[in-house]
Amino acid sequence: MRLHWHRRDLRAADNRALAAAADDGPVLPVFVFDPSVLEHAAPPRMAFLRDALAWLREWYRERDSDLVIARGDPAEELPNLAEEHGANGVVWNHDYTGLAQERDGAVRAALDEAGVEHETFHDAVHHEPGTITTNDGDPYAVFSYFGDKWLDREKDDPVPAPDADALADVVGDELPKLDDLGFEEPDANLPSAGTGAARERLDRFCESPIFEYDEEREYPARSGTSRLSQDLKYGTIGIREVVERTAEALDEAESEAEHEAVETYREELAWREFYTQVTYYNPNVVSQNYKDFTNEIEWREDNEDLAAWKAGETGYPIVDAGMRQLRAEAYMHNRVRMIVASFLTKDLRLDWRAGYDHFRERLVDHDTANDNGGWQWAASTGTDAQPYFRVFNPMTQGERYDPDAEYITTHVPELDGVDPEAIHSWHELDDEEREDLAPEYPAPICDHGERREEAIAMFERARGDD
Ligand SMILES: Cc1cc2nc3c(=O)[nH]c(=O)nc-3n(C[C@H](O)[C@H](O)[C@H](O)COP(=O)(O)OP(=O)(O)OC[C@H]3O[C@@H](n4cnc5c(N)ncnc54)[C@H](O)[C@@H]3O)c2cc1C
Repeated sequence: MRLHWHRRDLRAADNRALAAAADDGPVLPVFVFDPSVLEHAAPPRMAFLRDALAWLREWYRERDSDLVIARGDPAEELPNLAEEHGANGVVWNHDYTGLAQERDGAVRAALDEAGVEHETFHDAVHHEPGTITTNDGDPYAVFSYFGDKWLDREKDDPVPAPDADALADVVGDELPKLDDLGFEEPDANLPSAGTGAARERLDRFCESPIFEYDEEREYPARSGTSRLSQDLKYGTIGIREVVERTAEALDEAESEAEHEAVETYREELAWREFYTQVTYYNPNVVSQNYKDFTNEIEWREDNEDLAAWKAGETGYPIVDAGMRQLRAEAYMHNRVRMIVASFLTKDLRLDWRAGYDHFRERLVDHDTANDNGGWQWAASTGTDAQPYFRVFNPMTQGERYDPDAEYITTHVPELDGVDPEAIHSWHELDDEEREDLAPEYPAPICDHGERREEAIAMFERARGDD
């Protein structure tokens, strides 16, 4: 018998390590609450994780098995569990971040010492780091080449969930409560967790939005995206299953436009794998700029501006709507993530790491590679990033992608009933007009035009251009 160590693969179907272990004997599923991971966690993600574990445990229980739950350093817990249950091996799926690799190295060493076999599998991405490279075998630093190869490569089929008779007959453990783990209940409204809920999201998306994805995904007031980010982060659904559905959608597409829309969606899945390999080969990006600059970037330090940004009180309606969606739903639409990240790093000239830390605290889908990739893209410090001289204008972005201010007024009720035109020109109104229209909503905390010039000058100094 082997143990399957669940980590970011909280599902039974399309799980490579679990399927391999079930193939050659009973498999005993385990999950370990690791204090060094809990240190970096936050309430929304812990709540989602707990619910995903509850779903998974139920799946095993319905098949007369169970999920064994431990708490402590996996390098101690796993050899102990193997001994306690008479298992001769442990399997798990790779996690590609620097911290995970360090931890897994320690677990391997501990299992070796205890004489317990171990085997690992590539599962979380379709094409693991090192398989899509330049002709010289180097990892790509530019997405387009990586993306083209990713799209062209043949895709594997999902692997089936284990049969009930391949699961160990075991009595599992109760799930610890959030406060036992040191977390409060989140105040955000979270998506439901588990493979069932993830499949419902995928079904909804593949029913029709996928065929209009390239246009509709830009509008935060519409349901144009798949909302699978937390599922892909925690592995409540397998990437092969998602990709298989997109292949079916390609076959079903009834026009060139629909076909292209599905391809655009597949490209986003490739972005996820691009950032996974960026982080894998450059683990330092979690705390350092990917790009080298001749001089230090002169980020400002301003706690008041940072607090206004976090609270959604900047007086830039689309920015504030995004920050409040984050607080209310532990999620933010992609277009708005780009806008708020640009605003923090370019308009406020605050370090992207402050924004990344806040997102890490608040997002249910926080994923080291994607979050870091997104922040360094917006801050112009990353691989294949937004050029430093291209600064999003938050007013025109709002006007273009939320013309009726529907998204804005959903999240910023102080502006409810205000004419969208006035909302989109909030920075041009005088104090009296603003007071008249929405007395509770603040005036802009800075002048975008001036700040844009300052940001460009800051990057030119960092590049040594001046
Ligand atoms: C500053 C910033 C921070 C971000 N932080 C995260 C994060 O912590 N976790 C996260 O999963 N995504 C992050 N993203 C990427 C993107 O915003 C989210 O993946 C997306 O909004 C999730 O919604 P969805 O599942 O409906 O996406 P869809 O549009 O339906 O996309 C499908 C899937 O593709 C992947 N994907 C989509 N866009 C990107 C992208 N730009 N980069 C990498 N993968 C992508 C995600 O796994 C997503 O679930 C960030 C983007 C920015 C600009």
